[in-house]
Amino acid sequence: MDTSRKSPGLLQRLAEGPVICAEGYLFELERRGYLQAGAFVPEAVLEHPEMVRQLHREFVHAGSDVVEAFTYYGHREKLRLIGKEHLLEELNRNALAIAGEVAAESGTLLAGNLSNTNLFEPGDNESINAVRAMFEEQAAWAVDAGADLIIGETFSYTAEALIALDVMRQTGLPTVVTMAFHRADATREGDTAGESARRIADAGADVVGLNCCRGPWTMLPLLEDVAASVDCHIAALPVPYRTHAGEPTFQSLRDPHCDCLLGEMPFPIALDPFTCNRFEIAEFTRKAHALGVNYLGVCCGGAPHHVRAIAEALGRTPPASRYSPDMSKHAFFGTDAMLQAHNTGASDQI
Ligand SMILES: [Zn+2]
Repeated sequence: MDTSRKSPGLLQRLAEGPVICAEGYLFELERRGYLQAGAFVPEAVLEHPEMVRQLHREFVHAGSDVVEAFTYYGHREKLRLIGKEHLLEELNRNALAIAGEVAAESGTLLAGNLSNTNLFEPGDNESINAVRAMFEEQAAWAVDAGADLIIGETFSYTAEALIALDVMRQTGLPTVVTMAFHRADATREGDTAGESARRIADAGADVVGLNCCRGPWTMLPLLEDVAASVDCHIAALPVPYRTHAGEPTFQSLRDPHCDCLLGEMPFPIALDPFTCNRFEIAEFTRKAHALGVNYLGVCCGGAPHHVRAIAEALGRTPPASRYSPDMSKHAFFGTDAMLQAHNTGASDQI
C-alpha cells in the first residue's frame, strides 16, 4: 500500500458521511468546444490539458470530493478506433497527472477510472481476455499515479463489471463499480439492478450502484432495488435529464418541439431542453440519500451547478456556495428596501 495516500481515504469518508463524485467530463468539454462528439475519446487531456484541469477545479469548487481522472473511453479499443493507439499510455498518464494535481492541491481524492469497453461479448474468450488486458494496463497506470481509489463505470453487462472489479481489487485500492441500465430494467445478460449489485458486492466491491443513461426519476426505482439487495455503500450518478417511464434513458428522449435535429434523437448533442435544473438534482439527492445512497454525483450532461446542488442538498457549503443565489437585491424581483419601487412594482416586467 502507498503510505503517502491521503487521509482520510474513501472508506473513512464514507463512514463519516456521503461522498460526492462529479462526472460528466465528456459532455461538458464537448459543449465547451474541446472534444468531439461521436467517438467521444478524451483527447483533451493531451490537446487541452489546461481545460481539463480547469473543469476538475470547477467540480471541486462546487463540492466534489473526488477528482476522477478523465480516462473514460481512453482505453485501447477506443484509441484503436480512431487510429491513435500509440497515444494510449500518454493519454492515460496525462489524465491521471492532471487529476492528481487538482486532488493534491484541494485535499480531494484521486480516482483512476475504467469503463465499458464495447468489446466484451459473453462467452467469447478472446474478447474476455482482451477486455481484461485493457483493464489491467489502465489500472496499473492509475496505481503508478498514486490513485486513492479506482472506479469501474457504465457497464451494461454484470460480467464485464466483474472482470473490471477483479482487476481493480488486485490494486489494493478501494473500489467503486457502477452499472448503466438502458431501456430495460435489466443488464444485457438479464440481471435486475438488485441482482447485478448483489453479484458485484459479493465479489468484493466497496461501493456498488448505477451511473449514466437514466435520469433521476427513472434511476430511483432501480436504486430502491439496489438498496434492498446489498449491505455495502451505494452509488448513484444519473444523467441530469428529465427521463420518464416512456423514455427512461437520455438516448430514448424525443423532442416534439424541434424539427431541425440532424436525426431523430436529441442524444447526445441536443439534449439541452431536457436538462434538469438544480432544484431537481437537489430533490433527487435527498430521495437517493434517504434510500441509503451515500456516493452521489451526476454523469453525462452534469455541470458544476448540479454538483453544488448535490452538496447543498446534503447540507454542505462548498466554496461555490458563496455565490449561491440571493434574489433579494434583484432589480425587478427583489425585496430589498433600497430597490426602485417603479421597477419592483412593475407588472410589465414579469
Ligand atoms: Zn454518463
